Amino acid sequence: MLDEFLDLFLPTKCLLCLRPPSVICQTCASSLDLPAHPVTRGGLNGYSVVDYSAEVSQLIDKYKEHGATTVAKVLAKPMVTNLLANASPGDFLVVPPSSKQSVRRRGYEPATVLAAQIIRQARKAGFELKLARQALTLIEPVHDQAQLNARQRFENLANAMVGQHWLAGQPVILIDDIVTTGATLLECRRAVEEAGGFVRFFSTFAETKSKNDTQR
Ligand SMILES: [Zn+2]
Repeated sequence: MLDEFLDLFLPTKCLLCLRPPSVICQTCASSLDLPAHPVTRGGLNGYSVVDYSAEVSQLIDKYKEHGATTVAKVLAKPMVTNLLANASPGDFLVVPPSSKQSVRRRGYEPATVLAAQIIRQARKAGFELKLARQALTLIEPVHDQAQLNARQRFENLANAMVGQHWLAGQPVILIDDIVTTGATLLECRRAVEEAGGFVRFFSTFAETKSKNDTQR
């Protein structure tokens, strides 16, 4: 029911090709259902489906800022295909914590919506993953990463998160819509490990290739 509520605010035409009748049409959805490829950031391995493009940017923006749960379904699909091959049943999906301001502004957490969608689709395929709600918390005020360069992103996030004690001994897969420098996901891993958990890998829908590889 939440799905329908969130999508109420969206136009009834495809976000990508602008043809009616759905938020994202079958043709555009299929064009994004691609095999994920291995990605590495700062020694942390993961998988990503697409390179960040203007089209993907538009899609992720809608999903983040306009509550497009339908978009989350499209982002989740190829990620699930990859997780079925690389995850183990019972793995915990952990998302980066959102700042209080962004939760207040959006009314929901996009990465959590994505992770919940992944779990739902995996379950349909008979594969049980667990949503680790609020596993990580921000303990310091963090600036919006989008405004910062690579070095500033790492400084901004250093020791900014704390993990729940129940992560101890748990296998974790980090989930996010996009990986850029990897600063966010690496801080997530640090916090998960500090809490005693271990990160198997990360999974994102999109990857942005940094101009300066040495700063990853
Ligand atoms: Zn379309």
